[in-house]
Amino acid sequence: MKSTLYVKCPKCGETGLIKEIQGKYLCAVCNFDYTTLKDEPVKLDEMLVSNLKMGPMGQIMALTMHELITIMPTMESIQYVKDLAAKNGIKLPDQKKGFFSRLFGKG
Ligand SMILES: [Zn+2]
Repeated sequence: MKSTLYVKCPKCGETGLIKEIQGKYLCAVCNFDYTTLKDEPVKLDEMLVSNLKMGPMGQIMALTMHELITIMPTMESIQYVKDLAAKNGIKLPDQKKGFFSRLFGKG
C-alpha cells in the first residue's frame, strides 16, 4: 500500500504525510516514528483521539493508523477505535455497509 496518509503528529503537531520506510511509519515533517506508539498505549490513544476529532478524514486515518501500529486483526482494531471514539464523545459515521469494507479494501 502506497502511503497517502495524513495524520496529526503527536510530536510536532503538524498534520503531515506518513512515510513508510522499512516497516516503520514516520512523520514526514519531523521523522517521529509512529510504530513506537505500540509500546505507549496512552500516547497512542491521545494520537488517535486528536485525529478522530478532525472529522471523517481524521477518523479514517485513526482507524488505519491503529491497525498499522498495533497489527491487530482488522475487526478488533475497528472495534477498539470505535470504543475509543465513543468514550471521548466522538460520533463516527454510521456503519453503513461499505464504509469500512471500502476503507480496508475488503468485501
Ligand atoms: Zn511530526
